[in-house]
Amino acid sequence: MIESLATMETTSLSKTRLVTLAPDLEVGGEDVILMAGPCSVETYEQTRAVAEAVHRAGGRVLRGGAFKPRTSPHTFSGLGIEGLQILRAVADEFGLLVITEALGVENIPQVMEYGDIIQIGSRNMQHFPLLWAAGETDKPILLKRGFMATIDEWLAAADHIATRGNERIILCERGIRSFDTATRNVLDTNAIALIKQTTHYPVIGDPSHSTGRTDLVIPAARAAIAAGADGLLVEFHPNPAEALSDGEQALPLDSLPQFVDEVGRIAAAMGRTLS
Ligand code: PEP
Ligand code: MN
Repeated sequence: MIESLATMETTSLSKTRLVTLAPDLEVGGEDVILMAGPCSVETYEQTRAVAEAVHRAGGRVLRGGAFKPRTSPHTFSGLGIEGLQILRAVADEFGLLVITEALGVENIPQVMEYGDIIQIGSRNMQHFPLLWAAGETDKPILLKRGFMATIDEWLAAADHIATRGNERIILCERGIRSFDTATRNVLDTNAIALIKQTTHYPVIGDPSHSTGRTDLVIPAARAAIAAGADGLLVEFHPNPAEALSDGEQALPLDSLPQFVDEVGRIAAAMGRTLS
């Protein structure tokens, strides 16, 4: 393994450093943090409906993309600033925090103004100027694993953020590419366990992008928690069939209580609580 900032100081179990999201909310401790919301912010009504459901289910963090990295340029690429404003408004109404992606360096000040956690996407894991810009902020950073990146490359990317002064880094395992086309990606539970055992970074799982299939999201979420994940990033939509992005992996809003119940039972088995 490359000697990373994260591995230099820690060799034994449970060395995860807490990343504080709010005075009463931190990632890396006993609570498994649920970050839930739509893939993309589409409308005020859609985003508000999700925020209300997240709040009702006891969630604290609303996810949603305003700047979307889409494989095809002919698909919906997000509402931009208007999307950030919608996220902030509905999150404030329900007392939620906002996690949203900064797609380029120019989005960092915008996401800082409207968001609470800066997400760096899989395709940008080695976008070094973006990592440096994130490292110069004081916001928590969620660094997704590149879908073709090794764990060493991922940790080195985290070091690019940390060496600029920001150590409030949360890693996110969102699935890696494999030969098998039955699922969108493969959730690397090995990586979650390895990160927990060898680094001080909290790590969360993304069962939505790793499976690409609604019917596999709950089982993958349970597997991530069982492997030691400190949280989950999960896509929900009021009407997945009509979603402008990633509808095939979105859970319908009315499944949120079932999600919390089924995944919460694994958290409890691990001596943790889902919040
Ligand atoms: C997302 O979270 O909506 C997203 C684009 O994820 P990823 O960067 O993992 O593809
Ligand atoms: Mn998505």
